[in-house]
Amino acid sequence: MKTIGLIGGMSFESSAVYYRQVNEAVRTRLGGLASAEVLMHSVNFAEIVALQKSGRWDLAAKRLSDVATGLEKAGAGCILICTNTMHMVADDVETGLSVPLINIIDVTAQALKAGGAKRPLLLATRYTMEHPFYAERMKRNGMEIMVPDADGRTATHDIIFEELCAGHIRDQSRERLLAIIEKAKAEGADSVILGCTEICLILDPNALPLPGYDSTTIHAQAAVDFVLENAIGMRAA
Ligand code: GLU
Repeated sequence: MKTIGLIGGMSFESSAVYYRQVNEAVRTRLGGLASAEVLMHSVNFAEIVALQKSGRWDLAAKRLSDVATGLEKAGAGCILICTNTMHMVADDVETGLSVPLINIIDVTAQALKAGGAKRPLLLATRYTMEHPFYAERMKRNGMEIMVPDADGRTATHDIIFEELCAGHIRDQSRERLLAIIEKAKAEGADSVILGCTEICLILDPNALPLPGYDSTTIHAQAAVDFVLENAIGMRAA
């Protein structure tokens, strides 16, 4: 089995979910007490948020690229950036690697396609909803996304940073997110992407007004598919 390299800490609330999910998936598939081989480099989120706020994506790219190459040197056989937002710099990170970077946008698009979704609503940070990197990559994967209106985007962004990343889960915020999904449904959305790795902490993707696609689970499962396919291939050879 290859080692999964996780770039975590953005925030650590979602990194903990990744850690649990990759391990549970390996145990489910291999049985017994099997668990994943994992290396995680968890960064100081406050430093990354400061770079996001000042628009220094170049410095963020350099920082995450150094972390990724460190994980590769330490033995990781694939790399995951455990946040949608920081996929803004995924291409820069990928350039420095010789192992695969499993891109959260690509694997989410594949899951949407497999589920027959055509017009998904994206719930994410302002960076992910408003910068072109996410929508453009989805489009390259054949998927047109919808985003909430300005008020809905502000509410979603604030819930992510002020509550979920800080460890607070509030019923009132869950209701607000559900109202945003209901509105998008009335406007023609056929599915919803939990496009921020903390949203699964407040919304159950299987209990929404529209079919839900949780980027955290999809990404973690893709990593396990990758490392186990290699393991199975090696055993068969
Ligand atoms: N984890 C979040 C995401 O998936 C937001 C935190 C960040 O800004 O990286 O976008």
